Amino acid sequence: MSLPDLKYRRAVVKLSGESLAGQRGFGIDPPVIEELTREIRKVHRGGVRLGLVVGGGNIVRGTVASERGMDRVNADYMGMLATVINAMALQDMLERSGVETRVMSAIRMEALAEPYIRRRALRHIEKGRVVIFAGGTGNPYFSTDTAAVLRAIEMEADVILKATRVDGVYTADPETDPSADLIEEISYLEVMTRELGVMDSAAISLCKDNGLPIVVLNIKRPGAILAALQGERIGTLVE
Ligand code: UDP
Repeated sequence: MSLPDLKYRRAVVKLSGESLAGQRGFGIDPPVIEELTREIRKVHRGGVRLGLVVGGGNIVRGTVASERGMDRVNADYMGMLATVINAMALQDMLERSGVETRVMSAIRMEALAEPYIRRRALRHIEKGRVVIFAGGTGNPYFSTDTAAVLRAIEMEADVILKATRVDGVYTADPETDPSADLIEEISYLEVMTRELGVMDSAAISLCKDNGLPIVVLNIKRPGAILAALQGERIGTLVE
């Protein structure tokens, strides 16, 4: 099945590590991944060519570990390895639900994932496989948001969807400030100058320089990913 009314036909979805963790906020919660998988499957069935980038914050976050005395570069590599664990959990669930996937890692570990090679990744995507990009950018001092933007540009994606726990970008933190308003549309520059925390500054400026639109949406809302890809007003559009 291919949906005729798609606005974006090729997309990269950035999932935070936390989105695999459920209520506990850490580790991996299989029922939560199963729900995520259902959403991804719907979009994939609709004919969207998809790449996924998953974070690692549910296991290790480099900055936090280094604040506690660990060497930053070591901690960052641990964070990158955490994304590989998450990628494998996602792959497991997606394949079980009948979606063909490939995990491609920026850090070589051939026993469990293909090394990331752009041309091969493009070929997988063109063949309709969901590519799960693991290992971040492969470099310390970067984030998986930046990795997601980089892969989206390399995959010639039309959009990057940033899945969060809230409905989009707000004027203040909606989890602590009840007067916070949802912003429907905003420019890259405003996101940067108002420090709205959509993504880190390296990721936002990469989007800006390459004209890659970002849709920030709530992953917990059923159908949100598909709606965004159909161009419906959902979440926040950064353009
Ligand atoms: N990381 C890194 N380089 C990258 C991507 C990730 O060093 O290109 C490390 C970094 O320590 C980061 C951790 O991996 O804190 C987990 O990624 P991130 O914090 O972006 O995950 P998320 O917040 O999306 O769960």
